[in-house]
Amino acid sequence: MKLLLVLSVAVPLAAQNVGRPDADPRIEKLVAAVSEERLRQLDERLTSFVTRHTLSDTTSPVRGIGAARQWILDELKRSSSKLQVSFDIYRVAAQGRITRDVELRNVMAVLPGRTPRRIYVTSHYDTVNIGPGGQIAVNTRPAGQAAPADPQLNANQDYNAASPGANDDGSGTALTMELARVFAESGIEFDATLVFVCWAGEEQGLVGSRAHVQKIASEHVLVEAVFNNDIVGNSHSGNGAIDTKSVRVYAEGPEDSTSRSLARYIQRMATIHVPAHQVQLMARNDRFGRGSDHSSFNQYGYPAVVFRESNENFSKQHSANDTLDGVDFKYLAQNARINAASVAALALAPPAPKVVNERNQVMIGRQPSGYDANLRWNSSPGAVAYRIYWRDTWTNDWQHQQLVGNMTEYIFGNLSIDDHVFGVAAVGPDGNESLVSAYVTPIRRDPEVKLVK
Ligand SMILES: [Zn+2]
Repeated sequence: MKLLLVLSVAVPLAAQNVGRPDADPRIEKLVAAVSEERLRQLDERLTSFVTRHTLSDTTSPVRGIGAARQWILDELKRSSSKLQVSFDIYRVAAQGRITRDVELRNVMAVLPGRTPRRIYVTSHYDTVNIGPGGQIAVNTRPAGQAAPADPQLNANQDYNAASPGANDDGSGTALTMELARVFAESGIEFDATLVFVCWAGEEQGLVGSRAHVQKIASEHVLVEAVFNNDIVGNSHSGNGAIDTKSVRVYAEGPEDSTSRSLARYIQRMATIHVPAHQVQLMARNDRFGRGSDHSSFNQYGYPAVVFRESNENFSKQHSANDTLDGVDFKYLAQNARINAASVAALALAPPAPKVVNERNQVMIGRQPSGYDANLRWNSSPGAVAYRIYWRDTWTNDWQHQQLVGNMTEYIFGNLSIDDHVFGVAAVGPDGNESLVSAYVTPIRRDPEVKLVK
């Protein structure tokens, strides 16, 4: 183990060109392979099933969720022989908005990597029509009034009513299916295993993703990152605002959570590989009163974020009006490229180093002088170097960085660990970097105070 003692010189981030390694040409090629035309074709086909409601018909070969999921499965198989495509099936009992027992099928395509650690790209393929006005009727109810009954629990609802879901979430489903093809056909051997999933039951309370996460958590599956895409294809808001050049990424806190680390990573990769498109980071789990399948992963402690278009048109969502004319495929393709660049970089990089020891203590200290920043981490398989990041505590993105060699300890002389946040990322032989592991105290609770009886 090499030990270095250096004087800390805080060079401003911009001056160091931080986090902008020479773009890996394989990633550039992969990003360029995303096809706007294919996204359009996939979404056209998805809307042709009229509805994809979780409780809609499963017997018709042309209409309803049964026909839709079979087509998604077949299309994923057709798109590349390298994908391991299957239904991920659950027999779900009646509960909440699931008004009768139902067989729920997520559609899953796995691209095996050199290691079992998983990176997910997901979306939901089910749709819903909650009645006249769709989501705008919900948004414009007078404030303070008692909430009306859940429209999805109306006994007279027609599960086979038109519910095309071109944008919610045909946009995300097309994106997921296109990325499965692009990654599988890239010829690149990734270190991480990529898992592309189209969920069912999202509109009834994230049921498909929750059932899946419940299962993989019990099997101790290693999930490194989840890129969820839900409502990512529309650029024209219902209030007249237009934004074709940015996408929102929501990530739950606290500020150095692994989900926030993933969100910052996505923004960096977008800057490198898709500079014409901006990532707007949102420091919250999602929009008010709305949710999606990333939360199923967050609840089990997995890093997961959701992409959301910058301007939503609420008058189309959850209604028969969610049609193809409300999807801007040029815009959707840019969002797909940001996903592609970030997923590829992460899947090519070594896993993030661990900065917490087996006793759940963060490996940071003030040795040797008592005033230094002494950082230790566990070596990351495949890493050839590490990059240390730091910033003032009252900021939320890295301000400084230092590339160090293949070592597991580094000391900054006379740099206060109390006044800065530190993080470290593993760097692979091609320059691709892992997520940053932040030196933050893990959440813990003291034992209960014993009181005299
Ligand atoms: Zn949705």
